[in-house]
Parts: sequence; structure tokens; C-alpha cells
Amino acid sequence: MKETLRQRFKQVLAPTSEEPMGIEIAGSEGNYLLGPKGEKYLDLISGISVSNLGHQNERIKTAIKDQVDNYLHTMVYGEYIQAPQVMLAEKLTQHLPEELNSVYFVNSGSEAIEGAMKMAKKVTGKTDFVAFKNAYHGSTHGALSLMGSEYFTDGYGPFLPGISHGVYNDPNSVDLITEKTAAVFVEPIQGEAGAIPAKIAFISALRRRTRETGSLLIFDEIQSGMGRTGKLFAFEHHGIVPDAITIAKAFGGGMPLGAFISSQNNMKHLSREPVLGHITTFGGHPVSCAASLASLNILTESTIIRDAIYKESIFRKLLVHPKIKGISGKGLLLSLDLGTPAINHKVIDYCIANGVITDWFLFNEHSMRIAPPLTITKEEIEDACETILKGLILS
Ligand code: PMP
Repeated sequence: MKETLRQRFKQVLAPTSEEPMGIEIAGSEGNYLLGPKGEKYLDLISGISVSNLGHQNERIKTAIKDQVDNYLHTMVYGEYIQAPQVMLAEKLTQHLPEELNSVYFVNSGSEAIEGAMKMAKKVTGKTDFVAFKNAYHGSTHGALSLMGSEYFTDGYGPFLPGISHGVYNDPNSVDLITEKTAAVFVEPIQGEAGAIPAKIAFISALRRRTRETGSLLIFDEIQSGMGRTGKLFAFEHHGIVPDAITIAKAFGGGMPLGAFISSQNNMKHLSREPVLGHITTFGGHPVSCAASLASLNILTESTIIRDAIYKESIFRKLLVHPKIKGISGKGLLLSLDLGTPAINHKVIDYCIANGVITDWFLFNEHSMRIAPPLTITKEEIEDACETILKGLILS
């Protein structure tokens, strides 16, 4: 008998867990993923905060097809002049404070973090970094060195020296920032901890102290950026301007793309002594940039970003139940605290079996992820909440 796709998947794809979720995807449409037997799943996680405009957006598809017809890869990033990169960087910087006026394109979030770490060392001449407990910045060695979880880093050391981890939202963490600190990496909303927003006082304290020590303050907006929290970038909620930001995930409009963004003054350090201080073959791929530009145009020309706050309020209004211990997060980066991992897993399984895709957080197994496409409708939110509440009654 011919092997199923599921059996072939197990044979040839390297696993990331012993029991993969194993949802088979055969297509997509709007805010839904489709299975091979006609299953229809409302997407409540957007491929972990990627599909901000849902699936099969016509403008993004047209931009991709037009660029495919024009040219694909040409030359490692930064040397040739390619219109999709120039137009995207222009558009992006128009929506950023003037200090953030230079964009370096990469392929992923982890790479954006790596590039930003190198840039910070070169700009400041310093060597150390400060990050926070329960931070997730990526899976490559530098990014993993910043990770604030011993469970997930176990067995992969040694890591970069000179890295310390403070307690998120504790202003006393500023004491870790010294004259040797090249940069502080912070998520404006700690995603994998369970969508925990940074307090204004905490961020202000980091801003003040990094100014004193001459360290860069770098916001990891990889999960919180591109409109997910009701602003194009989450740092806009905090009333400060970071020295650099890293973006990826939704930035590519569904294609792989990341970037780190800082000032021309800072970024020029990557081009001298040595020349080619950071290079990438595929970073800023023209097809990814074309998709990203179409996505950014849609986000900034519509009310989609602003509507995330209204949609958050519908979730908060409908998700009321004695087993729900709280909802944290902002906009459509939300976390539903169900008290215990056992209940959370039962409800998640129920949701998936009943057509709503969700999951838990890396560092918070008792909370359910609610990060749907920003295009989710009121009716779809109501359907999702009804399924979650039914799952809770049965768990
Ligand atoms: N930073 C944050 C805040 C993230 O959520 C992630 C991905 N979950 C990353 C960095 C790493 O991005 P990537 O998987 O694209 O390397």
C-alpha cells in the first residue's frame, strides 16, 4: 500500500519534538487553513505571528508573481541596487522615527538578532549583553545565548561570554547594565513568556541607564511588530525610541524576511574594518521584499492595525469563565491563562479537533496563544471564543 504523507513526513523530516502536532495542511483561504479531507481550521496563531493579513491575500500574491517574472536572486545583500529592497526600506523608514533610518535585510528573526548583536559590539566597542529571563530571541548560537531559559538552552553551551539575564519588568535589572554592556535586548511584549507587556517605568529605566553607560537599547519586535499590538511597532506604546529594532515574522507578508534597523551612523560600522562585516546571500530576497512591501502598504493604508485594539476587546469580553485566570497581552498578541498545563492542553486539543488552531507558549504552558491574523472578523472571533469556552466546560 502507498505510504501516506504523514508516514513519509515522519521518515524524512527531522523532528522538533517527539510528538509533533501533525496537522496536515493542504490549502489556505482568508483566516483559515484547510486540511486534505476538507477540514477547515480557523487560524488563531498565524504561524506564530506571521500571517497578519491572513492567507492568500491577493495584493501580496500579485506582488510576488510580478517579482518572480522580473528577477529572483541576483547577488549577496548590499552590493547591487534592487528596487524591491530600496522601496521597502524607504517605506519602512517613513513609518519609523528619524533615528531609525537604515535597514539591513536578513532572512529570519534569529539572523536579525545576530546582526544587531554584531552591530552593537562594533558601534560601542563593548562586549557584553543584557537580556531577560523568559526572553526568546531565536535559535542560533548568539540568539540562544540571550535566551532566558535554562531548560531550553540545556546541552547547547558554551554560550557567548558576558551575557546576564535580568528579571523582566523589574526596574532593579538596570543594575546589570554596566560600562561594558554593548546592548540590552528587550521584547516590548515578551512573547513566549505568555504575551507579557513591558511596563513603561521598566522601559524608561532601561532607556535612562543605557544612555548613561553608552549601551544600545535594542527592541526585539520580531513577534510584536507589524501591527500586531495595535501600533505598527510596539515600542510606540512606550513613548521612547530604541537605538535599534529587529523585525521578522509578519514583516515578510508570508515570505521569509527579517531586518535590523538603526541609524546610518551605527550601521556604517558594518561596512568598514573589516569590509563586509555582515553579509548574507539571500537576505532581502527580492520576492520577499516585494511581498513585504505589499503587506506594509495594506497595513498602513487601512484601519487593520487600529482595529486590533477593538478585536482585543471582543476577546476580552467573551472569554470569561471561572477556569480563565486572566488574559494578558495587547492587541492581537494575547495569552489566555487557564491555570494548569493539563487544562490548557485539553482545551487546545479540543479546539484543534473542532476546527480552531491554537497552541501554548514556549515558557508558559498553562496559557493558550491567541494571535490570529489581524484580519480576523468579529464573527470569527465569536466562533473561536465559543469553541474555547466549550472546550473549557469539557476539561
Ligand atoms: N525573537 C522573537 C521575539 C521571536 O518570537 C522569535 C521567533 N519565535 C525570534 C526572535 C526568532 O525568529 P526566527 O524563528 O525567525 O529565527
